[in-house]
Amino acid sequence: MQKFNYHTHTYRCGHAQLDFTDEDYVLEFIKQGFNHICFTDHMPEKNKIDKRTNMRMDYKEKENYYKSIQELKEKYQKQIKIEIGFEAEYLPDDEENLFELKNEVDKIILGQHFIYGDDKRLRIFRQADFTDKELLRYAKYIETAMEKGLPDIIAHPDIYMLNRNSFGTIETKVANKICAAAEKYQIPLEINLTYPCLYYQNKRKNIIYPCKEFWQIASNYNIKVVYGIDAHFKEQIELFNESMEVANNHIGYETINKLHFCDENLV
Ligand SMILES: [Zn+2]
Ligand SMILES: [Zn+2]
Repeated sequence: MQKFNYHTHTYRCGHAQLDFTDEDYVLEFIKQGFNHICFTDHMPEKNKIDKRTNMRMDYKEKENYYKSIQELKEKYQKQIKIEIGFEAEYLPDDEENLFELKNEVDKIILGQHFIYGDDKRLRIFRQADFTDKELLRYAKYIETAMEKGLPDIIAHPDIYMLNRNSFGTIETKVANKICAAAEKYQIPLEINLTYPCLYYQNKRKNIIYPCKEFWQIASNYNIKVVYGIDAHFKEQIELFNESMEVANNHIGYETINKLHFCDENLV
């Protein structure tokens, strides 16, 4: 069983459990037998690009985030290894902010929730329709981010299925592009456990990602894979094993057994 989790949020993003402190996360992970975690809350933006509220910490909260996690790192060093990072979206005109953040933390996971549309406005998955051209741009942004050395892990690479009804030619092309880049740069891809988590099942009946077809394609490449809890609530940590099993059954063991799961050093 994977004893590490590099996809963990905090109350600062505004849509995670508000009464669950950073220390509560650490204690829950220890309780569930984890030995290494990385906090990767939604990155703050120096210049506000994503105008939604309750999606990410304010830039001014960054120092408090660093301080809090540093204190926990020291306090619990005998029980668990704690790292700090961000979940980030790559945008061509935000590179300065992105690399500044990268230099300050241990890990960056790329959760590409949006891209710029053909009209240069932000296209957010689930909120907008994506043209085929825009979907290919999603793959391009991920490739570029890897090429530039930004991410340590690609979170939910199959999130683009939020905007598609079926897995056809274009979806296959996007999957192949992302997998080829992940293989080239040896950046692990994450099987995201948000949808498989039973805690969410009333709200989210269909498992949109992990996408079975995406991972079938991924299994043909020499790429590394990790599970990510994408923890926003205590229950997701408690239900890790069950969520993993639901995800594995959904993807199918024929595919799962072909994937190369990596250890905590991401190798
Ligand atoms: Zn979130
Ligand atoms: Zn996340």
